[in-house]
Amino acid sequence: MSDRVVIIGNGMVGSRFLEELDASGADLQVTVLGDEPHAAYNRLLLSDVIAGRGDLGRLALPAPPSTAQVHLGTAAVAIDRARRLVTDAHGTNHPYDMVVLATGASARIPDIPGMNRGRDRARGVRTVRTIDDARGIIAAASTTQHAVVLGGGLLGVEVACGLHARGCAVTIVQAAPRLMAAQLDNAGAEALAGSLVGRGIDVRTSAGVASVVTDADHHMSAVVTGDGSTLEADMLILTAGITPNVQIAAEAGLAVDIGVLTDSEQRSVGDERFFAIGDCAQPPEGHRGLIAPGWEHARRAAQAISNGSSPAARSDGPGSVVRLKAAGLDAVMLGAATDLEPAGRRRVLRLHDPDAGRSVAVAIRDSHIEAAVCVGAPEVGAQLTTAFERGLAVPGDPAYLLLDPLHAPTTTDADSPTRIPDTATLCRCNGVTKKQVIAAFRSGARTLPAVSAQTRAGTGCGGCAGTVIGVLEWLVDAEPQATASAISEPASRREKDVARR
Ligand SMILES: Cc1cc2nc3c(=O)[nH]c(=O)nc-3n(C[C@H](O)[C@H](O)[C@H](O)COP(=O)(O)OP(=O)(O)OC[C@H]3O[C@@H](n4cnc5c(N)ncnc54)[C@H](O)[C@@H]3O)c2cc1C
Repeated sequence: MSDRVVIIGNGMVGSRFLEELDASGADLQVTVLGDEPHAAYNRLLLSDVIAGRGDLGRLALPAPPSTAQVHLGTAAVAIDRARRLVTDAHGTNHPYDMVVLATGASARIPDIPGMNRGRDRARGVRTVRTIDDARGIIAAASTTQHAVVLGGGLLGVEVACGLHARGCAVTIVQAAPRLMAAQLDNAGAEALAGSLVGRGIDVRTSAGVASVVTDADHHMSAVVTGDGSTLEADMLILTAGITPNVQIAAEAGLAVDIGVLTDSEQRSVGDERFFAIGDCAQPPEGHRGLIAPGWEHARRAAQAISNGSSPAARSDGPGSVVRLKAAGLDAVMLGAATDLEPAGRRRVLRLHDPDAGRSVAVAIRDSHIEAAVCVGAPEVGAQLTTAFERGLAVPGDPAYLLLDPLHAPTTTDADSPTRIPDTATLCRCNGVTKKQVIAAFRSGARTLPAVSAQTRAGTGCGGCAGTVIGVLEWLVDAEPQATASAISEPASRREKDVARR
């Protein structure tokens, strides 16, 4: 009999793991238990949905293989390791040979006086993690006068911009002295805060919410900040970090720290029948709470389970690329912000123009970009990202990196689809190269969704969408023979329209 694998959690990483396992061709009986009632979806794009920049249909992820038994709206509630059973909330037992924990994380709920009555949270206090959270926020936004966003990290800034775009007055309350403290340096955070304030968003740093004021019906009506001021508010969004969902693992006696402790194959350190992947996992390199490491966990675990071998070591690549997803606000962070101070052979260039909402810092070591923060200068950000991701050597005078794109803010040669090497990664979230996009085009994919379905490009943060569309448009011109026979009007015009859909 083939081995039975039970996956607990049907989120972005659990569903990616299922895909990887299916692609491996391993003969396994797979059961998925997902407590959300929805098919797996792209959580990253929820902030776009809140901002009204996309509908829920855009969140769909590839359907699971028909061989897997997927139980939606079914939480796993207990694991009996002695009898090798996972029990779900309906009382059904699922026997296993292996369990993959992909339970993700939940919004961290700070303990704020006045926010809870017994187990009931005040009405108006919300979190942002699920489709249902996003739906609730969108519905409430139409009658919300003033929203306070507690936590000025990436998610907090995105949600604040989204609510502001929906017409709410918004205050960001951030405990750290600067916004997006994990990603930005001081100058970048100052430029970002300046842009937010310029839009009319109130930004308070080194601040906290000391209490929530509610009425007799437990509706919130105000928050009191740490300095004693009262902000009338009918919505409080909690974006002050995440808590990995490890309860079921801890209750089963698995080793847990911040997340479920695993080895470098994502195998639980205490029980080789268990794996943990994504936001609930804590492998030797640490817990990150970002999608790219989660997908790497999925790959490792699928490889270890499907052929029992250790996954091949994969280069860490150039380091993380994080983009702020907020309309009209451009910020990209490459590598670690802590590397933005000169040290040893590292040289740091800066362009700081807070009045224009612009700040760029680039750390260069041995003619290559080691880290960068780029706020409010999309042309510079695009050039830096290209050089960082492709490991390109910087110009002899690296100041050109900052000044050239500002001087000629058009598509650079390096960005032109014709000049991008075939091996270049276009979709960093999914490691999709230009060559794979070309192959998808040649096999009939003419639109971004069609390319996504074949390659996964664009199904992460969505930041590569413009580049992929650019490559498709170039291909329409460069390879008209690939499609011309079926098209009566000029191929280039019609197909370019299609590529943008
Ligand atoms: C709005 C938003 C924007 C984001 N933007 C970015 C970004 O730009 N870049 C980035 O890298 N990351 C971003 N993230 C973080 C990213 O979404 C997570 O890293 C990613 O979703 C982790 O995937 P996961 O599968 O581990 O967890 P999840 O996606 O949280 O999925 C876990 C699933 O398991 C379910 N589950 C939990 N317990 C059980 C149980 N006992 N039984 C059954 N099911 C269970 C959960 O309900 C959930 O459906 C963002 C997150 C949010 C909310």
